[in-house]
Amino acid sequence: MISIRTKLILSLSIILMSGFFLINFFSYSASKKSVRASIIESSLPLSRDNIYSGIQKDLARPIFVSSLMANDTFVKDWVLGGEKKIPLIRKYLEQIREKYGFSTVFFVSETSGNYYHFNGIVKRISPEDDHDVWYYKFKNTGVDYALDVDTNEAALNLLTVFINHRLTGYEGQFLGVVGVGLDYNRIATLLHDYREKYNRNVYMVDPGGVIQVHTDKTKIETLSIHQIPGLTGIAPKILENIHNPALFEYDNEGRHILLTSRFVSELGWFLMVEQDETAAMKSIESTFYKNICFSILITVVTLIFATLVINFFQKKLEEMAMVDPLTQAFNRNEFEQRFRYMTQVNRRTNSPMCLILFDIDHLKTINDTMGHLMGDRVIRDIARLASRAVRGQDMLVRWGGDEFILLVQNDLEATRKVAERLRMAVASHEFDDATVLPDVMNMISVSCGIAEYQSGQTLDEFLMRADKALYQAKARGRNLVVTAKNLSEV
Ligand code: GH3
Ligand code: MG
Repeated sequence: MISIRTKLILSLSIILMSGFFLINFFSYSASKKSVRASIIESSLPLSRDNIYSGIQKDLARPIFVSSLMANDTFVKDWVLGGEKKIPLIRKYLEQIREKYGFSTVFFVSETSGNYYHFNGIVKRISPEDDHDVWYYKFKNTGVDYALDVDTNEAALNLLTVFINHRLTGYEGQFLGVVGVGLDYNRIATLLHDYREKYNRNVYMVDPGGVIQVHTDKTKIETLSIHQIPGLTGIAPKILENIHNPALFEYDNEGRHILLTSRFVSELGWFLMVEQDETAAMKSIESTFYKNICFSILITVVTLIFATLVINFFQKKLEEMAMVDPLTQAFNRNEFEQRFRYMTQVNRRTNSPMCLILFDIDHLKTINDTMGHLMGDRVIRDIARLASRAVRGQDMLVRWGGDEFILLVQNDLEATRKVAERLRMAVASHEFDDATVLPDVMNMISVSCGIAEYQSGQTLDEFLMRADKALYQAKARGRNLVVTAKNLSEV
């Protein structure tokens, strides 16, 4: 049978725990949603577009310079003049390289087939030479300029971007190709920074899906997105999407990855920016668990506090149910219960037990002359004297009005001594206001009747014998102790 207190504590803990859990759970899923939304809608696209604009900005200057060279009348005149005085073009190319810090500046002449280099090296290009294939390819495209990216395999991750620009004569005739080469190491730093600062994985793949730029150098030119678990299925979709930036999701080794891609037309490569959603949710998850622990702690503290309060009031109620409020002596109800218990003990141990029934003498007179409050105080003082006169295992009971019982766990003789001690203590006690009305206060005393418990006796029989003794004490003039045995005066 579960007690009301246990039921109350259980219900309280269920209400608190389910309340805390629901609040935490809802705030956890709301935070998850908002983090996901902020990655998808803001941080990923922002990173992607920032990197994209960074690349465009970096390439804008070499494109501009190569365009300037292609429109330079000096270059045109020099070519049209028969490519004489080679030092002049060398000096020109050298000047441009120095001014803009490019790794190379060159001119390839259509007429002579000469490849003029900023450091003066001149070679002749040929359609048979693999190194020169780019020239013929570019010539046939018909476009004004094109970028050609070269990954330096000896130093992985070092890119050289060549900007080739068509040089035409004053009548529009094709004269050759001018261009600059740019060591594009900055891109690697850019991608590295994004990984370090924002924990985003940024890399670039060519139209075939092969990785061209990556912070992990071992993946460059060796790994394709077609081979990455989770990406395999969506790789064709990513590589088809050259017109608009797009967002994709995939799972890899238990992690959920959000990916955005954008085609960088200048390089002809796809820029890929990834964020591990699982990792981003880690801090929310740990906050969730921290909150749950905190909620458990609050619940435990609340329950401890509630238990203490309940215990306190339960004790108070129990006390109120068994104690007389004026004197703090036990009440009649409690006495009857304890008496039953004591008689059982008594039967088992065969130890003696006596009862002193005592009554305050002339209390009515005190009430009449000094008021009911003073009567109350006298009752309280006498109860205090009585409780001091007995030992811990004995019991003081307010039987009613000005009548008390002392249940003493001792034999008749010892009990008589207790009663006598009490009688004398009361008689000699200086009650409050004795100075005001000394005559009245000095006559306060108690009369005691004692009976010893005989095995098998009922409470009524036991009490009747003590009452008879008390009656005798009163009849013989009060302030007396009389035992029921022989009803003789002490
Ligand atoms: P006796 O010597 O014969 O005992 O005379 P008594 O005046 O004490 O009268 P008795 O014991 O017959 O009656 C008890 C009186 O005590 C009656 C009532 O006025 C008074 N009394 C009973 N209970 C209380 C109480 O709680 N407070 C006060 N002030 N007086 C009480
Ligand atoms: Mg009385």
